[in-house]
Amino acid sequence: ARLVGATADEVERAAEAALRPKRLDDFVGQRVVRDQLSLVLQAAVARGNAPDHVLLSGPPGLGKTTLAMIIAAEIGSALRITSGPAIQHAGDLAAVLSSLEEGEVLFIDEIHRLARPAEELLYSAMEDFRVDVVVGKGAGASAIPLALPPFTIVGATTRAGLLPAPLRDRFGFTGRLDFYDAADLERVILRSAGLLGVELHHAAAHEIAGRSRGTPRIANRLLRRVRDWAQVRGDGRLDLRAARAALEVYEVDPIGLDRLDRAVLTALCTRFGGGPVGLTTLAVTVGEEPETVETVAEPYLVREGLVGRTPRGRVATPAAWAHLGLTPPPAPGV
Ligand code: ATP
Repeated sequence: ARLVGATADEVERAAEAALRPKRLDDFVGQRVVRDQLSLVLQAAVARGNAPDHVLLSGPPGLGKTTLAMIIAAEIGSALRITSGPAIQHAGDLAAVLSSLEEGEVLFIDEIHRLARPAEELLYSAMEDFRVDVVVGKGAGASAIPLALPPFTIVGATTRAGLLPAPLRDRFGFTGRLDFYDAADLERVILRSAGLLGVELHHAAAHEIAGRSRGTPRIANRLLRRVRDWAQVRGDGRLDLRAARAALEVYEVDPIGLDRLDRAVLTALCTRFGGGPVGLTTLAVTVGEEPETVETVAEPYLVREGLVGRTPRGRVATPAAWAHLGLTPPPAPGV
């Protein structure tokens, strides 16, 4: 009943939250990051200190928010959540920081989108646990240093390369999340099916895993859509037939490309002869922000060997033409 009036997005978010692993041991895959993080956290707990600040980078939906929650849970602290775009002024950040209690974890999502003054304020806060609160205006203004209790910042970014070096350097540990392989995604899906209380056939889990763009968020979402299909159009069984039929309804192609991926790929091949074409031009053609194309669609297309990045722009690989069932133009000079 709480969800009455909620938007579709909020409903999805709530469904997602229910499937979040709560501890590091439940977090599937990303073995390297998990191992490294586990050391950082265990050592801090043993010393009774707040752990070093942690930066998590990687494409959307791979578990950055989940890991931030896990960090707080593992050290037995409260988690506060904010994001780069939500902080308009340095003063907003100063207010958040000065309200933190000792040992708390502050998660800053999309930290690469912090405004410059806020970012600079964060430097001294992260390094010396101090913020300068400016009182007064103009020539009479003065900065009063305010000491903060120790805390841990967990920053998340889809674009680690965009963070200025002084900010990047203040994180004691950086975890780079990469796309999950099909076996790990299968484990994510089977775990989620267990939590949802549905019996998922192994072949169906395998099929969903192969079409989830290496992304747990997508895997969980597709699982819920397969469950819908089985309930409404099928016989209730979450088997291979249900998985294939549901994935077709939701236009997920055999290698997991979604509508945006295919739009980018199709534009690249049919409008620009396979490229090279600049990111901005490509984004305008598919009606998206360049940042969305660059952080949401492109990493997976590159990883699947469908798109290449060159100094002159994006190019379609032979695999891209083949995937779209198109014939590439003859090479120049042929
Ligand atoms: P964004 O930055 O877009 O918010 P994110 O990287 O923070 O994405 P999360 O919100 O943490 O992603 O994860 C998305 C969903 O995927 C969560 O509901 C979570 O249940 C699931 N998930 C992510 N990583 C894992 C994992 N390693 N094991 C199991 N489930 C996972």
